[in-house]
Parts: sequence; C-alpha cells; structure tokens
Amino acid sequence: MDKELLAMLVCPLCKGKLKYRREAEELHCLFDGLAYPVRDGIPVMLPEEARALDVDEKLHESPGRKGEA
Ligand SMILES: [Zn+2]
Repeated sequence: MDKELLAMLVCPLCKGKLKYRREAEELHCLFDGLAYPVRDGIPVMLPEEARALDVDEKLHESPGRKGEA
C-alpha cells in the first residue's frame, strides 16, 4: 500500500495513527486494539469490519506506552 495514502489514514474511532501490517494486510489501531482489513489494496475503515487484536499482537506491536490520555 502507498505510503502517502497510509499517512492520511486514521482510525475512525480514536482518530489515531494506524500501523500497516503488510503480511496480514491489515491496519492496526493499538489504542482500540482493532485490525482493519485491507481488501484489494483498499483499506476498510469500518469498526464493524475490524477484528479485535489479541493480546500477543498488541504486545508485539506496542511501542511501550499506549492508552494514555
Ligand atoms: Zn483507534
């Protein structure tokens, strides 16, 4: 996926930045713990289409601090 497009995308829930996981073709919001699917190169930014990240995924990707206001 295009880096410029990615830079414009934010989570529809928290308006935070998303992390693209190329191998999973998903955009992850660590704040909400959701993974938005990318279908045919098109990000599906719908909370109802997103799946919940499991704890391992969150830990693996965590920058160390999250969920702080
Ligand atoms: Zn979010």
